[in-house]
Amino acid sequence: MATDINTPSASSSPTQDAPRYPEQVTGMYILARALKEIGVDKMYGLVGIPVTELAYIAQGQGIRFISFRHEQQAGMAAATHGYLTKTPGVLLTVSSLGFLNGLTATINATVNCYPMIQISGSSVREPIDLDQGTYEGLDQLAVAKGLVKAAYRVNKPEDIPTAVVRAYRAAISGRPGGVYLDVTTPCLGAIMNMADAEKLFEKPVGVYQQVHAAPEALDRALALLASAKKPAILLGKGAAYAQADDKIKQFVERTGIPYYPMSMAKGLLPDNHPLSAISARSTVMEESDVVMLIGARLNWLLSRGHGKWNPNGRFIQLEIDPEEIDCNRHIAAPVVGDIEPSLDYMLANLDKYKMSMDAGWVAEIQQISKEKNTAFARRLAVETVPMTHWSALGAAKKVIEANPDVILVNEGANTLDDTRDAIDMSLPRHRVDCATWAIMGMGMGSAIGAAVSTGKSVVAIEGDSAFGFSGMDFSTICRFNLPVTVCIFNNGGIYNGIGKPLESTSDPAPTTLDIRARYDKMGEAFGSTTYYVTTPGEFSKALAEAIASKKPCLIDVQLAADAGKESGHIGYLNPASLIPVTV
Ligand code: ADP
Ligand code: MG
Repeated sequence: MATDINTPSASSSPTQDAPRYPEQVTGMYILARALKEIGVDKMYGLVGIPVTELAYIAQGQGIRFISFRHEQQAGMAAATHGYLTKTPGVLLTVSSLGFLNGLTATINATVNCYPMIQISGSSVREPIDLDQGTYEGLDQLAVAKGLVKAAYRVNKPEDIPTAVVRAYRAAISGRPGGVYLDVTTPCLGAIMNMADAEKLFEKPVGVYQQVHAAPEALDRALALLASAKKPAILLGKGAAYAQADDKIKQFVERTGIPYYPMSMAKGLLPDNHPLSAISARSTVMEESDVVMLIGARLNWLLSRGHGKWNPNGRFIQLEIDPEEIDCNRHIAAPVVGDIEPSLDYMLANLDKYKMSMDAGWVAEIQQISKEKNTAFARRLAVETVPMTHWSALGAAKKVIEANPDVILVNEGANTLDDTRDAIDMSLPRHRVDCATWAIMGMGMGSAIGAAVSTGKSVVAIEGDSAFGFSGMDFSTICRFNLPVTVCIFNNGGIYNGIGKPLESTSDPAPTTLDIRARYDKMGEAFGSTTYYVTTPGEFSKALAEAIASKKPCLIDVQLAADAGKESGHIGYLNPASLIPVTV
């Protein structure tokens, strides 16, 4: 990976004369310029052969380069940047392992429909193609293809601007996703006359163009919605990504239809909105006769439209990707196009339709929500010491809700489920979590991407296990002095810290980590402010102070080892257990 750039034996390309700058430039300069021309002003990555100088040149071109300790986290940052800004985040990696580490994040971005571009240096082609064994030799393009939205290789410096435009358009057009751009070492190092290079740059026109749905599809959707007795609107992270916030709010409020937000759509309308059905998920699934999906997939997170769902219910789907329609359940009114123009049309034509919603439907949802919320508030109010997830979240809730513009990053098992339920969001795109794959190991990268791409403060609420995947990049938060507070909910393990090993071994149980670990000492190592808290009172005080400081902070939140249960709320995903583990 990041081998010493001066190691002569590591270079597999013939030695080239250095370019005579400014009359001559290299492929690296052309690449940095091409990125700048299309509007890229930030890049996330980890340098080494053959891309070190590219990062320096990019900085020289005014592109902020955020250098990480692990490529996967740089990729998570680029992906989060893409989600929050609706423009591709850019990840830079070295060849072989660096490429592979970053690729996991690019694939994850593709699954989540976030636009990003992974640019990776790759070794000289000839020995790779003949499998002769070369420095970091790997057929990276072949690996990436099929796992990401699009993958390209550029071999000649004069093709670089075209390659960048192509990658950029592929990342943001239609359903957004991750794009891989392979740039070979000879291409990066190739020398061109500056005058010839200058002629290569043309400002791309109309880089993002909205796709308008057909009026008949929109009218069909409105007619179906108007016919519903118990309609519901289901908002997904595609709705948050679309940045049509006012229109979504207007549509919900003008129709008066209750809405249910998926976890990253929380805050599109405030969670305490009178039409929020966030606490009445089962009722929406079981009773709604028409559900309008806006930027949400009927995937596993929604039982793929089966199970609890009303078998006679019908669906409307506002969706950019035509292949998504009918993929799990019949969609009675598909609306293929961008959410914003679709809502423009629907708002303009709403008055032509007479709604048939039952008078008691909203009241029913509100009554159920009230009961659930009262019981939930009681659970959060118990100030248990040692802390459970709930008592810790009761403390965090007050502080985070008093700072609504803070972006909340969240991962873990119980820490994910309970934080999502406990902390109300009131602004769009202020919650970033492990999303569609429900993966672990997005925390530090996403926190950095959120802070860098928006300039806002971030709080990351991390399970102790989840933090372990990306913890070293807390040092990146410190090096760049970002306003990020990381809270580690330490219950000493995966799910919890009381897993018992079988009698045949003296090793720790597979789920056991370290209940006594002092994560705050890691913060000290990199110069952040740190806290170790054992009571809800200490936690809320520390968190309020940390957010107000707008500086890197790390809070070790000591929980009880028996706080938490297997797979959070979704234990059914684990195969039936033959082993009497206590998790
Ligand atoms: P959630 O997990 O929150 O339910 P998903 O990621 O499953 O959300 O679904 C998001 C959907 O939104 C994807 O199918 C994606 O194609 C779609 N989408 C993304 N951007 C837009 C847009 N601008 N207009 C319409 N649909 C979009
Ligand atoms: Mg844990």
